Amino acid sequence: MKSTIKKRTWKAIYRLLDRVSPVDGDCGRLCGSVCCTWGCNENPDNNTGTEIEMGIYLYPGEHKIHDKKDSWLKWSVEYAEDYEFPPSWKGPVYFVKCTTPPLCPRERRPFQCRTFPLYPYISEDGIFSLVYNYENLPYTCPLIDNETPLNRDFVKATYTVWTHLLRDPLIYDLVESDSRRLDEKSL
Ligand code: SF4
Ligand code: SF4
Repeated sequence: MKSTIKKRTWKAIYRLLDRVSPVDGDCGRLCGSVCCTWGCNENPDNNTGTEIEMGIYLYPGEHKIHDKKDSWLKWSVEYAEDYEFPPSWKGPVYFVKCTTPPLCPRERRPFQCRTFPLYPYISEDGIFSLVYNYENLPYTCPLIDNETPLNRDFVKATYTVWTHLLRDPLIYDLVESDSRRLDEKSL
């Protein structure tokens, strides 16, 4: 899959998000860092009684700034066609799982970890905004549950990076299709 987001842009995005945090202090103390421990472990699927393997997918081009030899991340490659990605997504998609959650080299954590609990939303009129990531979370994030006001610099930086990322057609398609799915769920 060909991303238009260059390696140096991903590096700049990481640098910008390194400087901000959703709230002051470590919000993991509120919940036992549940988004890390749930997000990167095998967990029971209450519907089937089996274990489901969780992980984090990297956005197009993001893999270029990671080293697959790093021991703190376990990599797997899936094919977009096998999952519910937009039709424009074809070929390999990189999934990672950190091996020692909730501990990781903070400056290396993936993009998804940096922007949670916010998620991009594009309205049917094409207006972009950030929303709390309510979708299908198998755990409770106190920041979302309490609609905790997030730090302004975090929201601003997250908004800025998304406006850059949405210039990439693949990322735009993904956010748009996720937004329509969100619309259907909130009907
Ligand atoms: S973002 Fe939410 S779920 Fe994750 S550590 Fe903070 S409060 Fe917990
Ligand atoms: S990479 Fe770091 S921030 Fe992301 S889920 Fe793993 S421990 Fe948490």
